[in-house]
Amino acid sequence: MKVTILGSGTAVPSLERNSSGVLVQEEGINTLVDFGYGTLKQLLHLGITYHEIDRIFFTHNHPDHMCDLIPFMFGARYFPSAREKDLEIVAGPGFQKFFDKLMSAFGHWLLPTKYNFHITEIDEGSKNFGSHQVTFKKVRHIEMSRGYRFVNSTGKSLVLSGDTDYCQEMIELGRGADLMILECAMPDGEKIPGHLVPSLAGKLAEEARCKTLCLTHFYPPCDLHAMHETVSALFKGELFLAHDLLEFEL
Ligand SMILES: [Zn+2]
Ligand SMILES: [Zn+2]
Repeated sequence: MKVTILGSGTAVPSLERNSSGVLVQEEGINTLVDFGYGTLKQLLHLGITYHEIDRIFFTHNHPDHMCDLIPFMFGARYFPSAREKDLEIVAGPGFQKFFDKLMSAFGHWLLPTKYNFHITEIDEGSKNFGSHQVTFKKVRHIEMSRGYRFVNSTGKSLVLSGDTDYCQEMIELGRGADLMILECAMPDGEKIPGHLVPSLAGKLAEEARCKTLCLTHFYPPCDLHAMHETVSALFKGELFLAHDLLEFEL
C-alpha cells in the first residue's frame, strides 16, 4: 500500500499546503480520501489525471475536503478525452442529498458523458472495497464526519481521521494501526471545537497505540517545532508532521 499526502493544509489557501487529500495506491487501484481544492493539481505532480481515480472516500463535506469533485466531474466531460472508467464515491449519511443539490445547482455541467458513478453511503461498520477491508466510524466534527480504517490483504492498516476532535471512536479506529493520519489543526492554547491540538493528538495516538503517526491539517498558527516536541513527549511511536507529497509505503 502506497500512501501520499496530497494536501497537509486546511481551509486557508496556502502555497505550501494544499487543502486535504490523501492518495492510497494498491494493486493498480487509485483511491482518494478527501478531495479538497487543489488536489487535482497535486495529483498531476504524480502523473495522475481524472482518468485514473477509481474510488473516492469523503470524510465529510466541508469545502476543504471535497471541492475538487466539481472540477473533476466537469473536466471528466471534456469532449476529446472524456473519462470512461466507472467511479465509486463513499461517504457518510447525508452525502447523497448534498451531492444531488450540487448536481442540480450546476445543471447538466457535471453529469458524466461516458462513465457511470455510484454513491455508497456508509454509517458505521465494515465493508470490502476492492482489496481493502474498510471500517468506518462517526468521529467528532460534524454529523456526516466519518473516519476510515483500511486493511489490505497482507494485514497492513491505514487510519485516516479527516477532521475530528478527541473522541473514543478515533482511538478505537486507530488501535495498533501501522499508520494513522490524524488532523492537528491548531496549537495548544488556540483550540477550536471539532479539531485537535498537539496535546490531544499525542494523547489520542498513545491511547490508540498506533505504530506510526502522521499529523496533518495545519492551520497557519501551527508551530511545527513546538508541535513535534509536545506530541513526542506523549506518543512513543514514530512521528511525522505532514508536508505535501509526503509518501509512506506500508
Ligand atoms: Zn478541514
Ligand atoms: Zn471540517
